[in-house]
Amino acid sequence: MAMMRAMQMDAPGEALHMVERPLPVPQGSDILIQVSACGVCRTDLHVADGDIHGALPIVPGHEIVGTVVALGPDADRFAAGDRVGIPWLGQTCGHCRYCESGRENLCDHPVFTGFSRDGGFATHVVADARFCLAIPDGFDDAHAAPLLCAGLIGYRALSMAGEGLNIGLYGFGAAAHIVAQVAIWQGRNAYAFTRKGDEKGQKFARSLGCVWAGHSEEQPPVELDAAIIFAPVGALVPASLRAVCKGGRVVCAGIHMSDIPAFPYADLWEERSIRSVANLTRQDGVDFLEIAAKIPVKTHVTRLPLGDANAALDTLRAGEVEGAIVLVP
Ligand SMILES: [Zn+2]
Ligand SMILES: [Zn+2]
Repeated sequence: MAMMRAMQMDAPGEALHMVERPLPVPQGSDILIQVSACGVCRTDLHVADGDIHGALPIVPGHEIVGTVVALGPDADRFAAGDRVGIPWLGQTCGHCRYCESGRENLCDHPVFTGFSRDGGFATHVVADARFCLAIPDGFDDAHAAPLLCAGLIGYRALSMAGEGLNIGLYGFGAAAHIVAQVAIWQGRNAYAFTRKGDEKGQKFARSLGCVWAGHSEEQPPVELDAAIIFAPVGALVPASLRAVCKGGRVVCAGIHMSDIPAFPYADLWEERSIRSVANLTRQDGVDFLEIAAKIPVKTHVTRLPLGDANAALDTLRAGEVEGAIVLVP
């Protein structure tokens, strides 16, 4: 019997462990994909640490690039041998009020890859072909992987930030290192905010073309038009509100954040706004991958073997990643 391997999580706070299973047979509109690379996202860390709760046991990973090896009877997109990307949005119901109004990212009955359905920390994964994305030719597998969440949800957050010239990025990890490149390509100025003392991260941000890099308690040299918060730190909400101009926007791009401390109404006054960004639509994926190829976005990746998934999560937790970590089976 053909077998697959996966790094499975049984309970939050426990290390992932390698399991071996029979290779699944895809049903309905599902396809079976042989994984060639899977990015490690902060959301995987929130799953592993129990900050958010989904199905258990679970194989995390939702920045998957691989090759189609088998198709379910109703899978009419893609063919065996095609390269596909599998993002966080694994499935939607198609008939709730959000799905029916073009907001499938907010679906009432969604399936999320690596959260409510097994993901890509594995040699193989099953995904609904209707929610898979074609990967532009210019990217190799490992460099394409971080585009599928860090890039894609980062891009959605940048769209929500409006058209302003000066954009602040709080937390300069996998998402910000991609979004900075998009913002600069759009002719804007990117300002990078890192942890205090993270001079390596600030240098990395400047090397990508950010006009300024400092730590998150600093005031940037200009008033920002918008700030996007990627770090899961609630205190960054009032901090970034104080850095944006009148009418400025603060966009929270993560799925989880520590509590937001109380702050004076004066910091929100003058039409400043705060919003979150949740998940993605398939159209976001199509739009972003087209732009990423056009720029072209250069992702910085560190490859680790699949069996090192726990070490990858630890490194991410410690904030010691330049760009993104990608697991390779
Ligand atoms: Zn729905
Ligand atoms: Zn993610």
